[in-house]
Amino acid sequence: MHLANHLKIKLTSLMARKLAVRPARLAGHRPVASISFDDFPKNAWSQGGPVMARHGVRGTYYTAGGFCGRTVDGTEFYDADDLKALAAAGHEIACHGFGHQPTPTLTDEELTEDAIRNREFLRPFLNGEAPVSYAFPYGRVSPRTKRFFAPRFASLRGVHPGINAGRVDLAQLSTVSLETRCWNEKAIEAAIQRVLHDHGWLILYTHDVSDTPSPYGSTPAMLDWALGRVAAARIEVLPVREALPMALGI
Ligand SMILES: [Zn+2]
Repeated sequence: MHLANHLKIKLTSLMARKLAVRPARLAGHRPVASISFDDFPKNAWSQGGPVMARHGVRGTYYTAGGFCGRTVDGTEFYDADDLKALAAAGHEIACHGFGHQPTPTLTDEELTEDAIRNREFLRPFLNGEAPVSYAFPYGRVSPRTKRFFAPRFASLRGVHPGINAGRVDLAQLSTVSLETRCWNEKAIEAAIQRVLHDHGWLILYTHDVSDTPSPYGSTPAMLDWALGRVAAARIEVLPVREALPMALGI
């Protein structure tokens, strides 16, 4: 990529990060955690689902409709039966755009078209409702796209590392990655302890779940370890749409 272009993207993302589009103060009544899967590869459900069931927790699947029933670059994605099964088990189906494009590269018209397409795709799996939580594909945002999505969802999640406590931006919630490429047990444990101390909101995220994960995914053992540490800290795990009102104290 051209250096000037690269710098422009960096600056836009820094500006977007600084610009709180939907500032809020978390109530801090008690700590809460969420586990989320992006895109999502089929094994995030077939392998990730049993790990969550063992821990008695429900997660959030940020779903890009364009991946349904497809295998892309060797990754097998979820299908309609997976969506039905995970919704029946009480997990949250959330929005991740239909075409899974970095939002700053799309015009407002294209963003509108993509948002409607994914909403209509997800509706049958949500009892006719619209999804309430959104995650930016690749975590890429600009001030414009934060403003675009903020009124359309209850919360927007990026991939900026950190916990959510005190003053937060509901248009770009922070996350702690469980991906193999940046797996760091000490950092995850430290984040859990901070959430416990600050009564904040920990949002974990990954992609595929397999014994041979991609750099963006986790093994079942990694997921099990992380959920085990959250359980040991006695932090309740809820889907994003349920954790949000608890975190806000409403
Ligand atoms: Zn994604």
